[in-house]
Amino acid sequence: MTISSASGGRSSTTFGNRVFLFEVEGLRQSANTDALNYPIRRSGSVFLQVPYSRMNEEMQRLSRLGARIVSIRPLGSAAGNGTSPAPATVTADTAPRPAASVNGDQSSLAPAQATVMTQAKDKEKEKAIPVNTYRPNAPFVGHCLSNEPLVGDGGIGIVQHLTFDLSGSNLRYLEGQSIGIIPPGTDAGGKPHKLRLYSIASTRHGDKLDDQTVSLCVRQLEYKHPETGEMVYGVCSTYLCGLEAGTEVKITGPVGKEMLLPEDPDANIVMMATGTGIAPFRAYLWRMFKDEERSLNSEYDFKGFAWLIFGIPTTPNILYKEELEEIQHRYPENFRLTYAISREQKNASGGRMYIQDRVAEHADELWNMVQDEKTHVYICGLKGMEDGIDQAMTTAAAKQGVEWSTYQKTLKRAGRWHVETY
Ligand SMILES: Cc1cc2nc3c(=O)[nH]c(=O)nc-3n(C[C@H](O)[C@H](O)[C@H](O)COP(=O)(O)OP(=O)(O)OC[C@H]3O[C@@H](n4cnc5c(N)ncnc54)[C@H](O)[C@@H]3O)c2cc1C
Repeated sequence: MTISSASGGRSSTTFGNRVFLFEVEGLRQSANTDALNYPIRRSGSVFLQVPYSRMNEEMQRLSRLGARIVSIRPLGSAAGNGTSPAPATVTADTAPRPAASVNGDQSSLAPAQATVMTQAKDKEKEKAIPVNTYRPNAPFVGHCLSNEPLVGDGGIGIVQHLTFDLSGSNLRYLEGQSIGIIPPGTDAGGKPHKLRLYSIASTRHGDKLDDQTVSLCVRQLEYKHPETGEMVYGVCSTYLCGLEAGTEVKITGPVGKEMLLPEDPDANIVMMATGTGIAPFRAYLWRMFKDEERSLNSEYDFKGFAWLIFGIPTTPNILYKEELEEIQHRYPENFRLTYAISREQKNASGGRMYIQDRVAEHADELWNMVQDEKTHVYICGLKGMEDGIDQAMTTAAAKQGVEWSTYQKTLKRAGRWHVETY
């Protein structure tokens, strides 16, 4: 089956000669599609070659046709000078599949069969993700093993690293998931407190590497009451930050599938964190780089590239600083560490250096990275941090004539753009 490319159009950018391979599902039969020269398939994927200059238009057209873009990946330059790429043809049954969805035996199958197998595998994987082993009405009662301060002298606020004993439970979790904590006591209405979620900061093996603990990174919430001006302290975070070793704790979960790491050990993992948003990234980085962890994970030998962009107010607020810098020192080729220290560093306009300013500085590089299907981006921390990141990416994508918001949707659908903010 031959597919005409969506070619044409002059690009004014220096990247205008690049061509992208769209994997598209669900092109449905309709008066519109009948009038076009697209192959119609009810299931499976079709592949279209699209030059840069027509990417936005093509995305919009596919969306109008009810199709779903599964992935977009660069194919390199079109023949010629790129101002008018020759209409390319791709044979659906022989079209190259994105590396991430090709798996040994499947590459010799027709795309439809391979898709069915991939979907079955995905379902199996889904089942293997533990969720809600303990629910709020029957939490696991563990106890606190340790509670250590993470903010150095002169830093702002209180952030603690807590480890809980899970022995005697069935609670298993994966990097990127969260657990719930139910604080003791009752709320203003006399009802038992509701659970609060916390991102897990340890790997699935736990900080003691015995699969029997879970760790959190908790900031004590404190703010001035907007009307009375009195200091208010958060219920659960204050309870956790003051918890003594040995105290019993009600734990629920695990929950969350948004922040799971891809299994591909060659993936590029871009992490953007503010404050305690570092928690899941600590788990990822320990899984990727810590010797003892690596020895426990024969199936995951990380050889990709990890980049942490970490926003904090002051140097003493750099959570897990020594360990992060040790990883950077040991693995300079595989781990890049970039701080945005708002009260100490200046942005390009002379103002405070927030995470979005750092992202803006590196936006062209990040934009190039996200076009590689091996790149996964994770954002975790303060609610609202996405806006500045989106602005920076919008500017970088626009330089190549691409609308970021549309492109970002394809990244989300492909499971390569992950956000957990609170
Ligand atoms: C998926 C997920 C993961 C999370 N992971 C972490 C984590 O790793 N570490 C972490 O520390 N937290 C994390 N949180 C946040 C955590 O769940 C709690 O929300 C946080 O600890 C505050 O709970 P609390 O009981 O101390 O505060 P509460 O007593 O519940 O008070 C919170 C309430 O105070 C009010 N409030 C808060 N700030 C202000 C303000 N500036 N002005 C006026 N009113 C205000 C709001 O009404 C807010 O709902 C996560 C949340 C989610 C959803």
